[in-house]
Amino acid sequence: MDEKYEIRFKKNSLNKIFKNLFSDEKKEQFCIILAKREQVNKLVILKEIEICYPKQSEILSSSLTHISIKKDFIYKILLDLDKRVDVDTLVEIHTHPFLESNSKVSFSSIDDEDEKNFKEYLKENYPKTSYASLVFSNNSYKGRIYLDEKIEEIEIKEWNITKEIQDPKYLDIYNRNIDYMGIDNLKKIFSTEKISIVGVGGLGSVVAEHLINMGFNNLVLIDNDIVEYSNLNRLVGAKYKDAEDKRLKVEVLKEHLLSINPFLNIKAINSDIKSDEALNEVLESNKVFLTTDNHSSRAFVNDFCLRYFIPFISIGVNISVKNGIVSDISGEVIKIFPGEKFCLRCLGRVKQINIDYENIKSEEIKEKILKRGYITQHKDPAVKTLNTILASLAVDSYINEFTNYNRESSILVYENNKIPTIYEDNMSIKNRKKDCFICNL
Ligand SMILES: [Zn+2]
Ligand SMILES: [Zn+2]
Repeated sequence: MDEKYEIRFKKNSLNKIFKNLFSDEKKEQFCIILAKREQVNKLVILKEIEICYPKQSEILSSSLTHISIKKDFIYKILLDLDKRVDVDTLVEIHTHPFLESNSKVSFSSIDDEDEKNFKEYLKENYPKTSYASLVFSNNSYKGRIYLDEKIEEIEIKEWNITKEIQDPKYLDIYNRNIDYMGIDNLKKIFSTEKISIVGVGGLGSVVAEHLINMGFNNLVLIDNDIVEYSNLNRLVGAKYKDAEDKRLKVEVLKEHLLSINPFLNIKAINSDIKSDEALNEVLESNKVFLTTDNHSSRAFVNDFCLRYFIPFISIGVNISVKNGIVSDISGEVIKIFPGEKFCLRCLGRVKQINIDYENIKSEEIKEKILKRGYITQHKDPAVKTLNTILASLAVDSYINEFTNYNRESSILVYENNKIPTIYEDNMSIKNRKKDCFICNL
């Protein structure tokens, strides 16, 4: 298989670019995206790092069918790009506003000629810089990237076309959801969203069931654990016999979800998050739910998703008991988008000492660290009532990205100390460690 090329944007960025480039529908418009190239196996991702629009004074002339930009605008960008390490690719975007709304956009022969010349110029003067281009009409796009020997097509990750729901049974199942989220949103989540759930224990299994009950139908379940008797107090879909037979959590959950709706598209991956199989699914996902309870997998997913521009939702719960008395019942939902300037590391939600501890193989050393008191190894309580509240908050907050019913919150906290409360935590973001090397690049 050949490589696949994709461009990925920061949160809401593509919408803004569209608005700007079609602000005047009678004129062709232009901008440049400075991007960073990342490759995993056969997938090459261009991440949007910065957008440059020409100022009015830098546009020589423009009409419905052409735009001409002062050379200086491009030269300045190229000089800058040559000095930077965070970007390595220049992506040109221009529009064809003259197209009828039902025809698909394509590059013109003038585009071909101009781009070919520009590629030659880059090759001679800025050989380190990769070059790609996109052309937009108001409802379609075409993209290509110039490689040494060839030109390859490039796709926009967020460009998902909503499909009609063909099966009337599907609409029957979700009939009572329609007025809650709107039929167009239901179609969108049905046809465009692929979701990976990392960890399908007491939190992840509830998230999965919530998602399919809300109408999402394309799920990837990732976990390498088996069902144990001590899970049966909270694992959705798990039965006594599953613990007796030591069945895989992902298999048990998949079976359960399909018994609710046999038309679902569910993939069960029985492996660690770091396996190739799991990572390839995560790379293709539109959203990742992070529902494991150990620091090293949480840190790994955090770093991976930020690097490859995959939005994710982290859910955590906490029940602390001191001297036999419950001292805290709480949980939080954290939403992180590509290009956002905070992550689980700088928010202090994953701790290096815990990651190191989890990675130590020698029991002797583990013992020593425990004795020093940096880490406690005692298993906290885990209960379904708390888990379901947090899973509900997280899934509702995801649905809100489509309905926009509520204001977006990056961190939602639930506390059940004396009186149940839900609040938005902006302080954590304000007080985060500002020099984070994961999200601040
Ligand atoms: Zn053109
Ligand atoms: Zn960070």
